[in-house]
Amino acid sequence: MSVRVRFAPSPTGLLHVGALRDALHKFLLARHSGGTNILRIEDTDRTRYNADSEKEFIETLHWAGIDFDEGPHIGGPHAPYRQSVRKEKGIYAEWIQVLLSKGFAYKAFDTPEELAAMREQQTANKVNTGYFGGIWRDATPSQVAEAEAAGKTYVIRQRIPRDTTIVVEDLIRGRIEWDSNTVDDPVLIKTDGMPTYHFAAMVDDHIMGITHIMRGEEWISSAPKHVCLFEAFGWDKPVFVHCPVIVGNDGKKLSKRHGATRVLDYKAQGYLPHALKNFIALIGWSPGDEREAMTEAELIEAFDLSGMQPSPGKFDIDKLKWINGIHIRGVSASELVSVVLQYVCDEYVREYWTNFVEESPMPGKAPIVGTDVLAKLDKIASADSAYVASILPMLQERVVTLADFGDGAEFFFDDLPSMDQKAVDKWFKQEHVRGLFSRLLADIGRVPCSVESYDALLKQYQVDLSLEKLGPIVHPVRVALTGKTAGPGLFELMAVLGPDRMKVRLERALELCV
Ligand code: GLU
Repeated sequence: MSVRVRFAPSPTGLLHVGALRDALHKFLLARHSGGTNILRIEDTDRTRYNADSEKEFIETLHWAGIDFDEGPHIGGPHAPYRQSVRKEKGIYAEWIQVLLSKGFAYKAFDTPEELAAMREQQTANKVNTGYFGGIWRDATPSQVAEAEAAGKTYVIRQRIPRDTTIVVEDLIRGRIEWDSNTVDDPVLIKTDGMPTYHFAAMVDDHIMGITHIMRGEEWISSAPKHVCLFEAFGWDKPVFVHCPVIVGNDGKKLSKRHGATRVLDYKAQGYLPHALKNFIALIGWSPGDEREAMTEAELIEAFDLSGMQPSPGKFDIDKLKWINGIHIRGVSASELVSVVLQYVCDEYVREYWTNFVEESPMPGKAPIVGTDVLAKLDKIASADSAYVASILPMLQERVVTLADFGDGAEFFFDDLPSMDQKAVDKWFKQEHVRGLFSRLLADIGRVPCSVESYDALLKQYQVDLSLEKLGPIVHPVRVALTGKTAGPGLFELMAVLGPDRMKVRLERALELCV
């Protein structure tokens, strides 16, 4: 049977890392097995539904490159894929009638006050709270008819079998058993006629032919109710796969301390979608070998449910940075400019940095100012494209995120880049440096503008000055040209800067040599 999986978000908020992992693992399973990946919008809780959230889910998944074969935005054989619309079509009403007629569901007319009193009593008696009976589970047909005739509102509850064991076979955890007397009767249809998650999701999973219910382990306690629903209908059960939670590196619940929780913020910070996917795929899943940096094709090829881990998956931001660096280095020279420019011009990236406030700056380091990050990136966007195309590949080796290109490239665009004062103090006071700069100023207009000729020129200075090492030549020249002590290869950057730009910088450096 061909694999069919669904990502079924309730669009009530932002798309978080945990939901991305959920969507990604299903995407990989579908693509690995030649199956079908379905997007279903679970929007039956109208009080919490948020249209912006649905937009964010679809856009973020698109950015991440997680695509679907069926869904509200593309249609498919089981359309509609939005549960509120499915409800309007009467799909759930039809199936709840089946359960009512078989006795696996019942109408319960309890008032909110009665339910509160029941809970209070249960708490006082130190027993499980929830709806385990009450008069309506065992009410006679005439009691029900009477309540209905009186116009009382009701919910429809699932009648969980009593005095038995409910078994859930979970692919990751194996067999899990519940004493059915500890499982309460959940609401399936609310007073307004809307189905709850328990009912709508399971009915849809059956109708849509879902083969694997993959979801977070927070749903494990609901699994016995879902198994009972499948059994009540006499449907074949899908495979249940409950994925362990994601925790921070310290083993604690994932929070802002460990990195952004909103997926879009990783885009804004300059992570490549594939790098984020690569990193997220490895949280709670292993390809069975030591591989970490993997292409999309490798992830799809390797993804197998047997690699799902039973222990909580760790979110290690340093690993994400490392993987991102690797994938940035993998971007071809011809694509690099458009990748960076697309990043700089992205609406959300700009909004993120414009409003960025660093919550806990690194001790001893100046806090990051978001508008400065953006201003540096804008220098790339507004510069001559051929010049940018020669600069970016030189920085590719050193950056961790796309945002780092702004900082790394800045000195190329500023006629007089800001100077690292410590480096000036260290190098410009040395005796040979004034002469070195003067000589270079005279030579740069004379020798060809190429990596090789600058390499030869500076090595010639070393010989002429009888210096044992090249350091006393390259370090002051680098500071003079870039204002910094580290950066791309000196001869390469000299060739990119060219004689005119170097001239202005060397003249300033000469003035600083007093
Ligand atoms: N709508 C549920 C949620 O957003 C889906 C859970 C599931 O995958 O079954 O958490």
